[in-house]
Amino acid sequence: MSEQKKYGFTTTILHSDRQKPIEHGSVHKPIHTSVTFGYQDARELAAVFQGKKPGYRYGRQGNPTVSALEEKITRMEGGLSTICFSTGMAAIGAIVQGLLRAGDHVVSSAFLFGNTNSMWQTVDGQGIAVSFVDATDVKHVEAALTPATRIVFVETIANPRTQVADLARIGKLCQERGIIYVVDNTMTTPYLFLPKEVGASLVVNALTKAIGGHGNALGGSLTDTGIYDWGKFPNIYDSYKKYPVEQWGMAQLRAKALRDFGGSLAPEAAHHLAVGAETMALRMERECANALAVATMLESDSRVAAVHYPGLPSHPQHRLATDLFRAYGSLFSFELKEGIDCFDYLNRLKLAIPASNLGDTRTLVIPVAHTIFYEMGPERRASMGIAESLIRVSIGIEEADDLLDDFSQALAGG
Ligand SMILES: *Cc1c(COP(=O)(O)O)cnc(C)c1O
Repeated sequence: MSEQKKYGFTTTILHSDRQKPIEHGSVHKPIHTSVTFGYQDARELAAVFQGKKPGYRYGRQGNPTVSALEEKITRMEGGLSTICFSTGMAAIGAIVQGLLRAGDHVVSSAFLFGNTNSMWQTVDGQGIAVSFVDATDVKHVEAALTPATRIVFVETIANPRTQVADLARIGKLCQERGIIYVVDNTMTTPYLFLPKEVGASLVVNALTKAIGGHGNALGGSLTDTGIYDWGKFPNIYDSYKKYPVEQWGMAQLRAKALRDFGGSLAPEAAHHLAVGAETMALRMERECANALAVATMLESDSRVAAVHYPGLPSHPQHRLATDLFRAYGSLFSFELKEGIDCFDYLNRLKLAIPASNLGDTRTLVIPVAHTIFYEMGPERRASMGIAESLIRVSIGIEEADDLLDDFSQALAGG
């Protein structure tokens, strides 16, 4: 595979491992389970520790199987480099551990994955201030900025209410102000959207979801797009300034967050995720088409009160989503009319499984307010637009007709 030619998304992932020689002509990168890496020349070991020579030392900081996955994600995102973590949340937590200090300020979208919301609330009590804003309009983000703002954090399509952030305008604002712009790309994946194109500094992917895609391994990643000038960032420790300036951020994140907090991805999980990633584009095509079909059917039914899916013309950010994304994702949420109990509805579904993952090959459904958003309480839920009857649907790769039949027979049974 020549480096000169620019191949398509799936071709690139399929042939990524062969960019470097693989042991025994293996076509997959093998699973390296060794925790430590030995050197015949002790001086070489020292050179690796001092960052003067590339190489592995101890599995917490890096592993060849994990590096092969990092390389794939870097290629998918069109970035400079990637660090993998044990989960998506470990990747998001790494931003706090690796880049923020007491007195710093963060502006985050108010429309967030539940655990990310909970994490920012915790951080807000630890000497770092966090402001939550409606990120569907850049003006709310701009109004919240202070001289201490170091990071703006948004999700592309918010999980679970599907609000679309004003991604391009927020990117421009962050670039003008020299603020790190973190975009969680989990719901769109690098197949539907490249955050780099709207000026993102760091991209988060929960690999557990669509990239791995089969619900059989947890993982997360941070990718440096190369857009942010780390030379302007006040929180870089001197130890990492020995590297070229474009590597400062990731060098510090790998040491201060991955090494010191230890949320490392296991090589076995990295292998599952890398194999899953090979079919991500095919799965996304099918899932996005299925999601649009089922969301459209539900919206036209008189027993459904609301459907939230950026692919529907009724969605407040439908135009924005059409401009930004290749398709509208595999996740939508909906509310039933009063009098139809959401638990009874879910129990009538024969195919869709009540479960909390998303981006799986199988269709999964969950009553949001009673499960993943239960802990935050009714007030915060209301402020995030989460109705008590909201059902989140993560559409899988089943045949569309089977899903349409299942979701409509469950309405008829009511
Ligand atoms: C699931 C998810 C995460 C966290 O990923 P885990 O691997 O479950 O820790 C982060 N952001 C979004 C948008 C998610 O959907």
